[in-house]
Amino acid sequence: MNDRNVTDDLATAHERAIERATDGRRFAAWIDGSAHEAASGATFATRDPATDTPITTVPRCDEPEIDAAVEAARTAFEGAWSALSHEERADRLLEWADRLTRHTDELALLECLDTGKPLEFAEAEIREGIGYIEYYAHLLHGDTDERVPIDGETHAYTREEPYGVAGLIVPWNYPVLLSCWKLGPALAAGNSVVLKPAELTPLTATRFAQLAEGLLPPGTLNVVHGLGDEAGSALTGHPGIDKLSFTGEDTTGEIVMGAAAEHITPVTLELGGKSPFVVFPDADLEATAATAAEGILYNAGQSCDALSRTLVHEAVHDEFLERFVSAAAEWTVGDPLAEDTTIGPLASEQQLETVHEYIELGRESDAELVTGGDSSDGADVGWFVEPTVFDGVANDSRLAQEEIFGPVASVVSFGSYDEAIELANDVDYGLAAAIATEDLSLAHRAAADIEAGTVWVNDYARFSPGLAFGGFKRSGIGRECGPEALNEYRQQKTVTIALNG
Ligand code: NAD
Repeated sequence: MNDRNVTDDLATAHERAIERATDGRRFAAWIDGSAHEAASGATFATRDPATDTPITTVPRCDEPEIDAAVEAARTAFEGAWSALSHEERADRLLEWADRLTRHTDELALLECLDTGKPLEFAEAEIREGIGYIEYYAHLLHGDTDERVPIDGETHAYTREEPYGVAGLIVPWNYPVLLSCWKLGPALAAGNSVVLKPAELTPLTATRFAQLAEGLLPPGTLNVVHGLGDEAGSALTGHPGIDKLSFTGEDTTGEIVMGAAAEHITPVTLELGGKSPFVVFPDADLEATAATAAEGILYNAGQSCDALSRTLVHEAVHDEFLERFVSAAAEWTVGDPLAEDTTIGPLASEQQLETVHEYIELGRESDAELVTGGDSSDGADVGWFVEPTVFDGVANDSRLAQEEIFGPVASVVSFGSYDEAIELANDVDYGLAAAIATEDLSLAHRAAADIEAGTVWVNDYARFSPGLAFGGFKRSGIGRECGPEALNEYRQQKTVTIALNG
């Protein structure tokens, strides 16, 4: 942050932006094609993390609203939605995507204010998210069932059928993008859905549902706001849910999986990460430093795939570290509405406290604080943290093992290939990893040896609707994105017909 009167400028700009973004709109739950408040009358506020002011309130839903949403979804699944052909379903989804695209500016501003992410990034993520809905709609056009040639007396084939009602639960770090990763394949597969956004960031999900009016039959897409242990657990434990897809912390994933077990509900889990970036000595250090900075600073480090452990060969350690610190300094902490900002505030005061606790832990350890370590100057409101790098971090320390979810990098040195791989894999998670090297053989070898669902070489966060994403180990079960994700939301039926019968 620069040293002008940040507080006053922020407050005024954000007050106006909140007025513009909410513009008399109601952010109620969306059930069976219309707005609903909680039967209890309870609400909670969603706050702007840059100014810590309330944006608006949303209903604090619980069992009655989950019951209503699941019932509406069941009716839609058995009626209007499933009555559509593949092509009609694809067309409806594409029309919805078009309408959402026309509202990109409005959605981006809402997402920026609700999450604290820079406006430009919010806009890119809205576009990216809509792209996933389009992808799954297009995939339907090429969708085929299989004939299985078993013998001349039998016609055997498989059918892919939707589960029915899918319960979708998402976290606060990428509300639109992660919702679209689930909505696209779940709806394209023919399910109806109940989506529960995170309590910190409920706004864009509401608008997504409202903007589906007239395109998706009522009850096809329901959005229910609420707390994890109220609305969330009512959803995961509901006997009318046929499929669960959850993104969030691994410890919450355990609870969700336990609830799913009660009804033998299939569950997709996208959980946390502590992703390594392995920098081999032949890497292009300038480019690698920039990638490493992006890997830990994009979205203020609140990314499941953040490259939070930088493993650097000792031969290039000093030069890399110098370049890494310079690259991190190019990221600008500040007002997420400002054009030059690349790091907004963290999403909540609680998240700020968590990040501060880890920074304190780092200070008290033998690791060296190379840059950062404090909230940015000048801001007495808003949950800002400057880029922070610790060097000489022990790989078995909490700093290197636990998900911090802030702009805090841990640098660890290695001396050999085997040591690098051992360090990279010596963690409970296995979501993503990156490798920096100019040696193609080494890149392939390391990509095979690292335990992670995605490995980027000389790259970070290369996402595309066609590429599957998901975790090894404690990072989850199943895959999102890519053609495979369609089958996370449908089940296979085998049919055999005796031809001589
Ligand atoms: P969280 O687990 O606290 O909450 C996620 C969602 O689950 C929220 O909507 C919350 O209300 C709900 N929830 C909480 N308790 C619940 C319960 N008992 N039953 C049902 N639902 C419940 O996670 P968070 O703090 O919002 O998000 C951050 C986490 O998400 C990080 O661990 C991050 O790594 C992970 N994440 C993973 C991916 C991925 O693709 N693997 C992507 C983004 C974020």
